[in-house]
Amino acid sequence: MSGFNMQRFNATGQTFEIDPVCEMKVDPQNPPFKILYKDKMYYFCSAVCKHLFERVPEKYIKTEET
Ligand SMILES: [Zn+2]
Repeated sequence: MSGFNMQRFNATGQTFEIDPVCEMKVDPQNPPFKILYKDKMYYFCSAVCKHLFERVPEKYIKTEET
């Protein structure tokens, strides 16, 4: 019954944002720190990560453009 496992996965229903600095999971429902940068919201686990990102955002943003 593979459907049973699928249902359990869906039941959690939780999504996480990844802190781009330390790559920790951050709950977007209750993020400790967040900033809007270039129309995209970034979430951070701590003020330190937020400051590091603000200093050099390009270092942490994974650019998908070529
Ligand atoms: Zn962090």
